Amino acid sequence: MKIIVDGMLGNIAKWLRLLGFDVFYEPNIDDDYLLKLTKELQGVLVTRDEQLSYKAIRNDVEVILIKKERKIETIKQILNILNVKTDQLEIGSRCIECNNKLIFVDKKELQEKLPRRIIENNDEFWMCSNCKKIYWHGSHWKNIESELKEILK
Ligand SMILES: [Zn+2]
Repeated sequence: MKIIVDGMLGNIAKWLRLLGFDVFYEPNIDDDYLLKLTKELQGVLVTRDEQLSYKAIRNDVEVILIKKERKIETIKQILNILNVKTDQLEIGSRCIECNNKLIFVDKKELQEKLPRRIIENNDEFWMCSNCKKIYWHGSHWKNIESELKEILK
């Protein structure tokens, strides 16, 4: 299931990718294109824009209208509507920047690409198959994990 995220919701798009969802997100794309794309991909459009959600319904496009303010509540609302069980999620499998799949990389291959301190303090690294961004579960991952716990409980 492809999720198309409205240009206003960049942070939500990143979190949905973190949870493993296949997400289309580009800022500054007009509403008509978003509707057309969602229909073509048989996906679901996520927006906070009420007018856009009415337009989607009129055009037979599946839409989720975000009503919550907080990110965690928003993600919970989306998971609920999509009826996705938490054990179906592939957390950390996708690049949050470009949506492509991550591949496991041996840290020996990263000696010249990352500061030594990071290589020494972490054992597992992943690289985006497309943009080559490198991921590891460093100190920032603790915050992500505690937010994940809140989302998934
Ligand atoms: Zn990437």
